[in-house]
Amino acid sequence: MRIVLVGPPGAGKGTQAAYLAQNLSIPHIATGDLFRANISQGTDLGKQARAYMDAGQLVPDEVTIGMAKDRMAQSDAVGGFLLDGFPRNVGQAEALDVMLKDEGVKLDAVLDLEVPEDEVVKRIAGRRVCRNNSAHVFHLTYNPPKTEGVCDACGGELYQRDDDSEETVRTRLEVYHTQAEPIIDYYRAQGLVVTISALGKVADVTARAMEALKTSDEG
Ligand code: AMP
Repeated sequence: MRIVLVGPPGAGKGTQAAYLAQNLSIPHIATGDLFRANISQGTDLGKQARAYMDAGQLVPDEVTIGMAKDRMAQSDAVGGFLLDGFPRNVGQAEALDVMLKDEGVKLDAVLDLEVPEDEVVKRIAGRRVCRNNSAHVFHLTYNPPKTEGVCDACGGELYQRDDDSEETVRTRLEVYHTQAEPIIDYYRAQGLVVTISALGKVADVTARAMEALKTSDEG
């Protein structure tokens, strides 16, 4: 399946994407993770992206689209993928459509994770991520690690992302409303959007998502 995951920062896209990708046996492609990997490896791309990310702004399309395209061209993504954090504006959605058309394939669904704004701010402020693997995500209140500051899954150090401060979160939410929400309308016009509530336990949201994807596939 070829799926795009959308939803505001803090909706749990990364957490859900990891489970859904595993359940569906497709790679989880997250442009934010690709940027963070480039930053930690000190690449030119990472240097270009860093200032935008720290400010909560979008990295320019010329950089982002090329990076996403390279990743999607890798062999593990030929049979399908789950995109998380891309596309993030209508220009990127149009570029993705062109890429898919060139390959003669189509998106199967756009999964929209819905969560109220005050909940988003709470979720992000308490979020802690593993330095070894960004799919290992914890929350100080909702999903605390067994030992403070240590990843349950691999023992890695937990840290707060630079762009998870409350001020940057507000900017990221504003960027989401102005740039990313129009994507939902763009895909709705193609009949691809399935919306589910992202509230509740992680496993319940995954089950809801799997059910919604199954129904959309049958429909
Ligand atoms: P995320 O991990 O998806 O929350 O992304 C973190 C940051 O990476 C965003 O706030 C942007 O600065 C940048 N970023 C990730 N994906 C994209 C994208 N598709 N387009 C532009 N910037 C992006």
